[in-house]
Amino acid sequence: MPWAELLAEGETVARYWSHVLRRGPDECWWWTGGLTDTGHATFRAVSLPGRTRRGTVPAHLFGYRLAHGPVSVPRGMVVRHRCDEPPCQNPAHWLLGTRGDNNRDAASRRRLTGHALADVRGAAGRARAVQAAIAAASPEDLDQAIAAALAAGNPSGAHQDALF
Ligand SMILES: [Zn+2]
Repeated sequence: MPWAELLAEGETVARYWSHVLRRGPDECWWWTGGLTDTGHATFRAVSLPGRTRRGTVPAHLFGYRLAHGPVSVPRGMVVRHRCDEPPCQNPAHWLLGTRGDNNRDAASRRRLTGHALADVRGAAGRARAVQAAIAAASPEDLDQAIAAALAAGNPSGAHQDALF
């Protein structure tokens, strides 16, 4: 993946940001573009006509390089979400870790009442519900609409536990 080349394309970078709902420094920055069946954001990194390069990349891996430069993720490591919201694009919510770290955290957190990983809709259903709420909300109702969309996946009514 020619990261340096991609990151230097102003059009590509602008298009990435056009799919990100940037919010406060501690909040999740929701992705409004394509999603995988695990709720991760997908970004078609090349769209200009006449290009032969093509490909869809995980959006958080594109965003991670935007934040840190065209670094390679060390073998055996993954870019993890501290917030456990797979579509989140807030660079402050990403950290490097192993798949083992990821699995261990997921196993312990999915038992927390009201947690993202306990969402009855699954990760993709949760991500789609947030996208639908963002699309339908007026700007002044956005925070409330997102909070309601998140809460709807945890019928017990408990609020989300703070993790960091
Ligand atoms: Zn987040």
